[in-house]
Amino acid sequence: MIDVLIAFALVSATAVVTVAVMRRNLRRLTDATLDILRDHKRRVPIASATGGMRDLGQWINSLAEDVERSRDALLHERTLLASVADGLTQGVIALDDERRITMLNDAARKMLGVQSSLVGEPLLDFVRAPELRELIERDIDASAELQLPNGPRTLVRAARTFGRAGCVLLLEDVTTMRRLETVRRDFVANVSHELRTPVAVIRANAETLMAGAKDDPIVGPKLIDGLHRNAERLARILADLLDLSRLDAGQYRLEVATVPVKGVTEQSLTAVETQAQKRNVTVAVDIPDALSVRADPKALDQILVNLIDNGVKYTHPDGHVWVEARASGDAVRIEVRDDGPGIADKHRERVFERFYRADPSRSREAGGTGLGLSIVKHLVESMGGEVGVEPNAPRGSIFWLRLPRAVTTVTA
Ligand code: ADP
Repeated sequence: MIDVLIAFALVSATAVVTVAVMRRNLRRLTDATLDILRDHKRRVPIASATGGMRDLGQWINSLAEDVERSRDALLHERTLLASVADGLTQGVIALDDERRITMLNDAARKMLGVQSSLVGEPLLDFVRAPELRELIERDIDASAELQLPNGPRTLVRAARTFGRAGCVLLLEDVTTMRRLETVRRDFVANVSHELRTPVAVIRANAETLMAGAKDDPIVGPKLIDGLHRNAERLARILADLLDLSRLDAGQYRLEVATVPVKGVTEQSLTAVETQAQKRNVTVAVDIPDALSVRADPKALDQILVNLIDNGVKYTHPDGHVWVEARASGDAVRIEVRDDGPGIADKHRERVFERFYRADPSRSREAGGTGLGLSIVKHLVESMGGEVGVEPNAPRGSIFWLRLPRAVTTVTA
């Protein structure tokens, strides 16, 4: 009996010790697991562990490694997503189910005119646009164009996210697109308007000639002259339109070279000689022989013909046009001055616009297309130059341009 009691006591003592050891090991394991939660780089120490505790420790460690790998992958994806989003020109805003911002990229921040992160803030507190509220609150993917307060005209597309709780907004600045649409509409309307008159004259003259006027010795030649003048006018408009469209499309090939200003000017003068003689306008040139610019010679000729022709066309009969050029730092300033009626302040800054005329009837009567100066501006700027207009004293206008000066080496 005593033997049985002793054996029982021994078993009980062993069991108590084993439970105590297991409890201590389990506590250590729990502490080590909590350490991993606090610092994901830590691991359960298993060097001195044995048996089941070692297996459990290893299993917890491999779980911790899996979690760390997933966490790194998630972090990488998030960084990638943020840099892709920040590289977009479109604004991106992600909202949660309470319309709070969970993500917004740089472009969206710029469009909303905010510098801070805004993450966690309700979007509609910052952007008070009823169209935006309506868009966000609709339960389907939709889009709307709206004016952001203090921001651009914007096309907003809302896409529901998975589970339809939140949504992602894509914002596109459409200010330039809408402006270009208006410019294109105006341009088409202007072109039609410009073409209508010469086409109508050509048709009317041709019909009158066919109806018998061709045999009339007085009316016949007049009508034929009208046909010719208006056909010429159409050809001029079409040539200018073609130049502009080639310039717009970047198909007007400019071959920049060192060009002597005086040489090109003399060549340009031959194109306006007849007109100048007809109006008895004197064109005086004062340009140093050695002055050269970096320009495309054909483009520079076209620019000078346009400006000198305008001077001759708009100054009074018996008037004067002066063409001068001087070096000014790294540039050359070329001026075409006239002593004509000048251009009123309100028109001056607009004369480089397509089809803009300060004096429409005078321009048409002189055979102008209203496109010359816009071509001049395009060409000068394509060659890295500047162009402008100032009033001349005591009367008339000064059209000036600056082009990069060509440095010519003088050999002894
Ligand atoms: P246009 O073919 O009508 O001459 P441009 O584009 O060359 O077209 O010029 C635009 C307008 O600027 C002209 O219609 C004219 O009203 C004005 N303009 C241009 N040059 C002169 C000038 N030297 N003197 C007065 N007005 C000018």
